[in-house]
Amino acid sequence: MTELRLVAGRRPVGAQLLDRALDLVFPPRCVSCDRFGAFICENCLDEGTGADPPRCPICWMPSREAAGGPTPRPTCVRCRAVRPSFIAARSVFVYAAAARDAVHALKFRGLSAIAPTMAGLMAERLVKWSPPVDCIVPVPLAGGRRRERGYNQSELLAKELSRLTAIPVDQRALVRPDSASPQYRLADREERRRNVSAAFRAGRRVPQGNVLLVDDVMTTGATLDACARVLLEAGAGPVFALTFARED
Ligand SMILES: [Zn+2]
Ligand SMILES: [Zn+2]
Repeated sequence: MTELRLVAGRRPVGAQLLDRALDLVFPPRCVSCDRFGAFICENCLDEGTGADPPRCPICWMPSREAAGGPTPRPTCVRCRAVRPSFIAARSVFVYAAAARDAVHALKFRGLSAIAPTMAGLMAERLVKWSPPVDCIVPVPLAGGRRRERGYNQSELLAKELSRLTAIPVDQRALVRPDSASPQYRLADREERRRNVSAAFRAGRRVPQGNVLLVDDVMTTGATLDACARVLLEAGAGPVFALTFARED
């Protein structure tokens, strides 16, 4: 484990030239306000809904108790009742406004070019947080959905994050067989949880060190919890989690 910091992460000159040429033909446009210049413009970032404290130090749920009171930094009611399999989770934004527009663009509009912008914001958050992690593992998509979309958004974010921080990425640590039903069809919370637990399997080779799980959005935390449990059972070290956004 070395000290976490942002590395230059320079892309090869050819790729930089290609980026510049593409920017001329398809100038980046803010996914939230349509202004030209960047995928998420400064204005929208400033108005952004940062997932800032006071929050539960484990699951990062907003928590008034965490602000102070008799016991400093207490964990939320849910984490006190059932402790998640991950040590701690953090998110850059609340899933709203420009952050939601960015996730939608990446996930549903095929705008994979926004991934470096999103990962850059995640990298800044990660360096500030500095969890002791040895490798990055993206939450996998089921094969069918991956084929539909052409990529796994979490994998793109994980790869960019790896480039920016020099922490290696392991895309095969977790697998997701096709059989599991997508979350949105299961309204019942208990059923969702059961479904999520069965959705992931450990890959053939599981990292031995501490893991940083990466996903685009944290909803109930059930996905991250299930992934962390699978990794731990397969012999990985403690698991931390980072998402671009979270639903409060
Ligand atoms: Zn904007
Ligand atoms: Zn909590």
